[in-house]
Amino acid sequence: MRRTLIAGNWKSNGRKAGLETFLEVLGGGLASASAEILICPPYVYLSKAVALAPEGVSIGAQNCSVEQEGAFTGEVTAGMLADCEVGAVILGHSERRELFSESSELVASKVKRANTEGLMAIVCVGESLEEREKGLAEAVVLEQVRQSLQGVGDASGIVLAYEPVWAIGTGKTASAEDAQNMHAAIRRCLREQYAEQADGIRILYGGSVKGGNAAELFAKPDIDGALVGGASLDAKEFLQIIAAG
Ligand code: PEP
Repeated sequence: MRRTLIAGNWKSNGRKAGLETFLEVLGGGLASASAEILICPPYVYLSKAVALAPEGVSIGAQNCSVEQEGAFTGEVTAGMLADCEVGAVILGHSERRELFSESSELVASKVKRANTEGLMAIVCVGESLEEREKGLAEAVVLEQVRQSLQGVGDASGIVLAYEPVWAIGTGKTASAEDAQNMHAAIRRCLREQYAEQADGIRILYGGSVKGGNAAELFAKPDIDGALVGGASLDAKEFLQIIAAG
């Protein structure tokens, strides 16, 4: 049985005061929540978020260094995150892949660092609009899955997030059927590498998830939660997504 995971990716948004209010409102609305909840604010707010997180809410980062430690100015390592009681890290988000030229090979190396430090790694994959229109969506996504997990032996700390790039921040969502089909294909692909563990690996959907479309997505058998961008900045909207989980 896979427990629904609802993760909020704040990207480079938010300030201290807003974080405090957000966590307070979130904490006040969780009484009947059954999903696991994760909030991923910017690095500089992680320790504050860990200190203020209400019961049932974990804190994650949005990236980590591929290096273990050393002279890498500006980088934050997986070990530092674990040291600050951060429990998870998003890796290979499409914005990292596109804007910072991160390859799937680099993502796989980061996943190994996260694994070593005991962090949950949320590994993002997804096709562009052009790739979808050419009928290449599944091939592109499955190749990203294989390469982003290359050499990762143990999948117990891994969560996948299928995020079609054309659906991120655009208000367009994949239909629940299309998302389910891709999630099922990802799970078949995971079975090739993780015969024993694949059925326990959570696969989140991401791309304009809101209170109004979450329930339909979560009703699908291979959609195990959501990675939420914009709607995770508003505690009330985020609570609606949590209520659907
Ligand atoms: C994201 O950035 O991971 C995301 C899914 O964003 P949004 O929910 O805003 O589409």
